[in-house]
Amino acid sequence: MYPQALESLIEELKKMPGIGRKSAERIAFYILEMPSADVLKLSSSIQRVKKELFHCRICNNLSDSELCSICRSPSRKRTTICVVENPRDIEAIEKSGVYEGLYYVLWGAISPLQGIAPEDLKIGKLISYLRSGKIKEVIIATNFTPEGESTAFFLRKKIADLKLNIKLTRLSQGIPTGSSLEYLDEATIGRAVELRR
Ligand SMILES: [Zn+2]
Repeated sequence: MYPQALESLIEELKKMPGIGRKSAERIAFYILEMPSADVLKLSSSIQRVKKELFHCRICNNLSDSELCSICRSPSRKRTTICVVENPRDIEAIEKSGVYEGLYYVLWGAISPLQGIAPEDLKIGKLISYLRSGKIKEVIIATNFTPEGESTAFFLRKKIADLKLNIKLTRLSQGIPTGSSLEYLDEATIGRAVELRR
């Protein structure tokens, strides 16, 4: 058992994804050895992301104002939306440079194992967005994991049930089963966007 202050830092770090007790201890000791100014910088950037970032009113992307930079941009095609699981996927697709439309962030994927139901995602808001009639194409770009695929399946049915004149496509070409968009290279994503079907 370490002194209480250090123990509590380790406990907090352990809550982070992919961080076990050993890694948490390593990070905690690293922080302990850091110059005070750097520790202050680290803690203030943690506070800033919580204080200054919101969800975009239209697409739920992270933003420092009411609308995110993509929704604000006059050069984006406003009749196409690309539905992704999280903002990291937007980063990945933007890097490919081939997509000109808008996005929609679900903030997760359906996962019965983790207790994530369709109601826990921003699907209801997506449906009302589509009902507004401005969107002509929806590209489903959830990950190619079992959760991403079942989310894509659910969305496809839900959107088809709307009986609106919306073209529904899915990224497919060359994306290996089981992969998450954020780990794919730009060229693969770019090709998948261009060859969507
Ligand atoms: Zn937005």
